[in-house]
Amino acid sequence: MDPALRTALERVAQTSELLVAADFDGTLSPLVPDPAEAKPHARALAALVRLSQMSGVHAVIISGRERSVLAELTDAPDSIMLIGTHGTETSEDADPDQAARVRELVAALQEVAANHEGTLLEPKPSGASLHYRQATDQPAASAAAQAVGHRLGVRMILGKEVVELLVGDGDKGTAIADRRRRVGATAVVFLGDDTTDEDVLRTLVAGDVGVKVGEGATAAEFRVDDPDGVADVLEALAGARSN
Ligand SMILES: [Mg+2]
Repeated sequence: MDPALRTALERVAQTSELLVAADFDGTLSPLVPDPAEAKPHARALAALVRLSQMSGVHAVIISGRERSVLAELTDAPDSIMLIGTHGTETSEDADPDQAARVRELVAALQEVAANHEGTLLEPKPSGASLHYRQATDQPAASAAAQAVGHRLGVRMILGKEVVELLVGDGDKGTAIADRRRRVGATAVVFLGDDTTDEDVLRTLVAGDVGVKVGEGATAAEFRVDDPDGVADVLEALAGARSN
């Protein structure tokens, strides 16, 4: 591990109220061709669970996935808070206008999925994702999904081989900022690999530790290669906190 990262982890571990948050796919879980087959990285999840059970530590897994799916995939204990659909997941009493817009959006993307071989539609409470990693024509599938987003005027998130269309406000950045306020965190550690994780990394301040997983432009101060690196970070943090 980067010695500067190790030093930063040892320092942040001493803060009184620590918020530790991580993305799921590509961060706490290796990327796989079929998103339904994603499994948590055992060592990374175990370290996060251990952290979540320490006093003054607040652990969060935040994902573009639906919260119920996230719960199933991670099988995380209640000590870890799960935030789904980029923090935009609608509450039980969502307003009917929004529900109608979501249905319209899902129907339009279903049509795209039907017309583009190898794509996978993932409906969500506040929208839907079109996964095109296994599409025979990736650019065409992506363009068709984006055209739906433009036509309906909804929020569009371009991830790794996925176009996500969402009705409603908020992103991972606002969700983690909200969490920071609610738990009174004195420092935040955040790890993520995707473009949407940059919304969180940009909200970090001096004393926080932001870690980008993998390649690509980032606002994070530190970087690791993959979920193995994430596990190393979380284990180092847990070790430093328990001392
Ligand atoms: Mg990810």
